[in-house]
Amino acid sequence: MESMAEKITAQKGTKDVLPAESYRWQYIEQALRSTVELFGYKEIRLPTFEATELFSRGVGETTDVVGKEMYTFNDKGNRSITLRPEGTANTVRAILEHGLLAEALPVKAYYLQSCFRYEKPQSGRLREFHQLGIEMFGAAGPDADVQTIAVAAACLKKVGVHSVRLEINSIGCPNCRPAYHQALKAYFNMHLDQLCDTCKDRLDRNPLRILDCKCPSCAQVAKNAPLMRDFLCQDCRDHFEQVKQGLTNLSIEWVENPTIVRGLDYYSKTVFEFVHTGAGAQGTVCGGGRYDGLVEQLGGKPTPGIGFGMGLERLLMVMEAEQAPIPADRVPDIYLCDMGGESKMLCQRIAAAVRSAGLWAECDVMGRGLKPQMKYANKIGAKYTAVIGENEVNAGAGKIKRMEDGAEELVAYDQLAGWLCQRLCK
Ligand code: ATP
Ligand code: MG
Repeated sequence: MESMAEKITAQKGTKDVLPAESYRWQYIEQALRSTVELFGYKEIRLPTFEATELFSRGVGETTDVVGKEMYTFNDKGNRSITLRPEGTANTVRAILEHGLLAEALPVKAYYLQSCFRYEKPQSGRLREFHQLGIEMFGAAGPDADVQTIAVAAACLKKVGVHSVRLEINSIGCPNCRPAYHQALKAYFNMHLDQLCDTCKDRLDRNPLRILDCKCPSCAQVAKNAPLMRDFLCQDCRDHFEQVKQGLTNLSIEWVENPTIVRGLDYYSKTVFEFVHTGAGAQGTVCGGGRYDGLVEQLGGKPTPGIGFGMGLERLLMVMEAEQAPIPADRVPDIYLCDMGGESKMLCQRIAAAVRSAGLWAECDVMGRGLKPQMKYANKIGAKYTAVIGENEVNAGAGKIKRMEDGAEELVAYDQLAGWLCQRLCK
C-alpha cells in the first residue's frame, strides 16, 4: 500500500544519477582521469564548503558567481560559509595552506567535483553541477597555456567529442589592462541608459564584467565595445602569439574570439573556451585561462597559474548530441537459479566463489520460484545461467547455459569460477 505521507522531491536545479545511468558517468570520469594523468596531473580532493571570503576575494565581488550565484549561509558558529562554486580558488587555498609551492614546480592538480551556483535551472545549467578541473602553478610562459589547452582537447577527443570549437583570447595583464578599463568605461558611459542595474554598478568597479553580462541589452551594447586586443602590451602580444603557434604546432585548431573575457575576475593573458558548434544555448563545455595574480591575491608569493573547468553535464549533453559512443553498462556474468533448500545454499556458495574470481554472480534474494528467476535472469541480461536442482546438488555439477546462443556445457561447480574466467576474464 502507498504510504500517505507526502513525498519529498529533489531540489530545483539538482539531479539524481540513477543506477541504470551511472555507468555513463563512471565512463567519462574514468576517461577524463586517465587522460589528465597522462599529462602529470594528480587528483586533489577539496572540501565542499569554504570560508565565503575565499571566493569573494579570489573569484571577485563583481562577478556573477560571487554577486548572485553563491550558496552562502552562516553556520552554527556564525561563520560565513559558502558551498564551492568552482575549484580554482579552493585549490590555491589548499596548495598555500600545505606549502606545495615550496616543492618542485610546476605543481599540477586536478579535481572531479560538484560545484554549487544559485542559477536559473535550464538545460545545461544546474544549481549543483559537476566539473573536471585542472590547475598548474609556477609556469609563466606560453608553453603552459598550450599544454593546458592540449589537455582539454585530449579529454574531449578521448570521449569522442569533435563538434566543439576552441576559442581563444588574451585579456591582458595589470600593465595593459588599466588603459583598456578606461576605454571601456568611456564607451559604456556613452550607453549608460542601455545597461542593466548590475552593470551600471559594475561600470566603476570592473567594466570588464559588463562584457560578460547575459542581459540582452547589455550584450547588444557590448558588441561594439573596444577590444582588449587593441590595448595589449608587447609582452602580452608576444605571449598570445606563441600560444597560437604552439597550438598550431600540435594541430589543435583554434579561432580567435576577441570578446571572450570569462566570468571570473582572476584571469589574465590567455583565456579560452571550448564551445559546442551544434544548436543549443549552454554551449560552453569547457572554459579556462591564466590567472597569474590569484595566488598573491590569496596571500601567497606571486606565482603564475593556469587551468580550466569542464562541465560534465554539458559534456554528456554534447556527447549525446554527437552520438559519441559510450560502452554499454556491465551485465551479470552468471545467474544461478536455485530450487530452494540445499540448492539455494549451494548457489550462494558458488556465487561467492565466482565473485572471488572477480566475476559478477547473481542469485535469488526474492524467494522466487524457478520460472520467475529465469525470467529475471533474462531481463538483467546475464551472460550465463545455471539451474541447480536436487540432481545437480547430488552430482556437484550441472549444465551452464550461454544465453547468447543457448549452448550448454556440463561443468563441475568447484571448477565453475575458473571455467567462467577462461571465457570472460580479459
Ligand atoms: P556560463 O557562461 O555558461 O555561465 P561560466 O563561465 O559561468 O559558464 P565557468 O565558471 O568557467 O562557467 O565553469 C566551467 C564550466 O562549468 C563551464 O564551461 C560549464 O561547462 C560548466 N558550468 C558552469 N556553470 C554551470 C551550471 N550552472 N550548470 C552546469 N554546468 C555549468
Ligand atoms: Mg556562469
